Amino acid sequence: MDVDVAGVEQAVSTGSLPGWDRVDQLVVAAYDRSAASEGGVVADYIPALSEVDPRLFAVCVAQTDGAVHSVGDADVEFSIQSISKAFVYALVCEALGHEAVRERVGVDNTGLAFDSVMAIELNGGHPRNPMVNAGAIATTAMLPGRTATERWERIRSGLSAFAGRDLEVDDEVYRSETRTNQRNRAIARLLESYGRVELDPLEVVDVYTRQCALRVSARDLAVMGATLADGGVNPVTGQRVVAEGVCRDTLAVMASAGMYERSGEWLFEIGMPAKSGVSGGIVAISPGKGGIGTFSPRLDDAGNSVRGQRAIAYLSRALGLNLFASVPHVSPIDLH
Ligand code: GLN
Repeated sequence: MDVDVAGVEQAVSTGSLPGWDRVDQLVVAAYDRSAASEGGVVADYIPALSEVDPRLFAVCVAQTDGAVHSVGDADVEFSIQSISKAFVYALVCEALGHEAVRERVGVDNTGLAFDSVMAIELNGGHPRNPMVNAGAIATTAMLPGRTATERWERIRSGLSAFAGRDLEVDDEVYRSETRTNQRNRAIARLLESYGRVELDPLEVVDVYTRQCALRVSARDLAVMGATLADGGVNPVTGQRVVAEGVCRDTLAVMASAGMYERSGEWLFEIGMPAKSGVSGGIVAISPGKGGIGTFSPRLDDAGNSVRGQRAIAYLSRALGLNLFASVPHVSPIDLH
């Protein structure tokens, strides 16, 4: 699609958050309203993930002015898993530009599970988007670097800049997933057969597995989200991590595919770009306003954290974060 905007005066549509006290009160309310929810199950296809305490729960909001609100287990660390896909995508867009990544990885939802092999076959080897495993592996393979170690260091330092602190790998999760990631290795081989991965596919999967095992907290996720909300500048450290246009691209693919095959439903009910991971984290972004980070390990059948979704649904409404709403509103989701 060619969109010609030459000569058009450009404008943005962002509002502002309520005052600090009100945001703080609403973050507590989001936690309280969602805490009792018992639904969902902890992921166990990566054995180390099944050992987590399912009661853990945290809700955090980081504002683009640097203020951070948190309730619950906000500093408990867990492996970032699929949420890394969004931030590695941003790093690759920053390095190679909008067009290169769009052509190779795509931006459309597959409508299928994140680890679907069928989606690759149905699309002639094209991964469709960077938020499913195939697209994420293809994205990681695009990152510039002479060696796997160099590419890995770029990811580790890049995601650390988003979080504003040095992130480290959870070795137990990394080893556990390495022992059981035959499916991802098969996906990488399939991409190789279609010419979508030019490096050694197993080496790429190893870097991808490490990126998924980086340890973050819900607070880190909120700050990482706020960095995307703030046009690429980390609002806590003041460091520019990626360009403004890269944030726009990243938020667009998060909106279309960040919540797996439920992304349409999520956008319809919540109206925010978001990304979830199988260890129970979710990051959601309100451009110009801030990021939400939640952590609760019990997942629904698409792999999205049950309590995290509820808490973000509440905050989206209470703080006015739905991108499509021009006036405050109540959705059926608030009523149950
Ligand atoms: N590392 C996980 C995998 O590749 C990430 C999946 C996820 O969080 N959805 O299966």
